[in-house]
Amino acid sequence: MQKLIEGLHHFQSTVFGNQRELFERLAQGQSPETLFITCADSRIDPCLLTNSQPGELFILRNAGNLVPPYGAVRGGEAASIEFAVAGLGVKDVVVCGHSHCGAMKGLLAPPPADEFPALTEWLSHAEATKRIMRDKYCEHDATQKLNIAIQENVLAQLENLRTHPAVASALSQGRLRLHGWVYKIETGEVFGYDPDARQFILLTQRPAAAQTLRRVEI
Ligand SMILES: [Zn+2]
Repeated sequence: MQKLIEGLHHFQSTVFGNQRELFERLAQGQSPETLFITCADSRIDPCLLTNSQPGELFILRNAGNLVPPYGAVRGGEAASIEFAVAGLGVKDVVVCGHSHCGAMKGLLAPPPADEFPALTEWLSHAEATKRIMRDKYCEHDATQKLNIAIQENVLAQLENLRTHPAVASALSQGRLRLHGWVYKIETGEVFGYDPDARQFILLTQRPAAAQTLRRVEI
């Protein structure tokens, strides 16, 4: 905790002072253009990754970057999505998974339900991912399975996102775009799903030179 307190001192004495105008403006309201849904994993920093400033990303985080289908739970996810899309009018929604995701490891090799009852129930929102992995990728080794599950889960959660009325409405009006990303911790690379190529493609390269995250089509 001492490190956090020292961090607060640094923020107030250095960071805040340098950006006082920004924070004063943000106190008047927010108008982020992107809803960024990602895992709670401590190794992901959405603002660092995207070079975003305070006020630019509306961030929703949980274990496994899951989006429960609308009506499945009365949780904070649905409320946050509704507010971001219908209230703030974000133009883009990003669902960002990441390499070495503990939640996806737990999906493929479930922990004891009596020890992790809440986690077990939560991961049921990735049941489609689990089923796809079982039915389509059973021949792959454990490392490949984890990487594929991370990608398939991003796509499954994008489908869940479409069940939210505010999202469905904004999509039908053409004022919202959905994006599936995967962040590779060890290289800093971010791959985006290309529906035409049916693959995740490195976002920072030109399409002609694009690298795919893996060769398996999904
Ligand atoms: Zn994770």
